[in-house]
Amino acid sequence: MSNLIEPLVLVVEDEPKIAALLADYLRHSALRCECVADGSSVDAAVRALQPDLILLDLMLPGKDGLTVCRELRRWSEVPIIMLTARVEDIDRLLGLELGADDYVCKPFNPREVVARVRAVLRRTHRQYGASADRATSALQFDDDRFEARLNGQVLTLTPVEFRLLRTFAQRVGHVLSRDRLLAAAYEDHRVVSDRTIDSHLRNLRRKLCDANGGVDLIHSVYGIGFRLE
Ligand code: CA
Repeated sequence: MSNLIEPLVLVVEDEPKIAALLADYLRHSALRCECVADGSSVDAAVRALQPDLILLDLMLPGKDGLTVCRELRRWSEVPIIMLTARVEDIDRLLGLELGADDYVCKPFNPREVVARVRAVLRRTHRQYGASADRATSALQFDDDRFEARLNGQVLTLTPVEFRLLRTFAQRVGHVLSRDRLLAAAYEDHRVVSDRTIDSHLRNLRRKLCDANGGVDLIHSVYGIGFRLE
């Protein structure tokens, strides 16, 4: 049973030695780590793993880091730190304008990268603050079995409801749009209608409410989306 105490970092880096070095330092710093070597597989990896932060190399096979960053920002607020060997300021700025949270220049000191990761995690975590701490300790997820627990009690969820709840739990107190929730819940969200996601959300809300002594945990924000309290 994994909980959300150790943040998961997704390393997107095509040079195996650098990826292994980063993974090593991250794990020694009590962070979980997964690696992807190809730009075109980042989107699927983010949907499947729901990382807390992405270390994203700029020069990648498949799809370059700028494109990956721009595409991720259409549906995800996951913090992104760009890794770049190109020192031109314009590239750095472009990276930040695309919605990246920070950047590190190559060659880097892995300790510095870990320090940046920690700083960005602290900053993004503070934005949703103490309520997130309480919620993440109350909610536990077993990703292999698609099983979630609230205060130790198993919630009987469908895979879609599980992914929705996982997404809410990472952004406690934040309003998530239908698009964001659709993207998190389905591999190919173009085939799903708003009505379908609403019915999944209704069922998830009812199950959470039942497990929480009749108190609603998911609230709808008119015209914007939904929020887990
Ligand atoms: Ca590279």
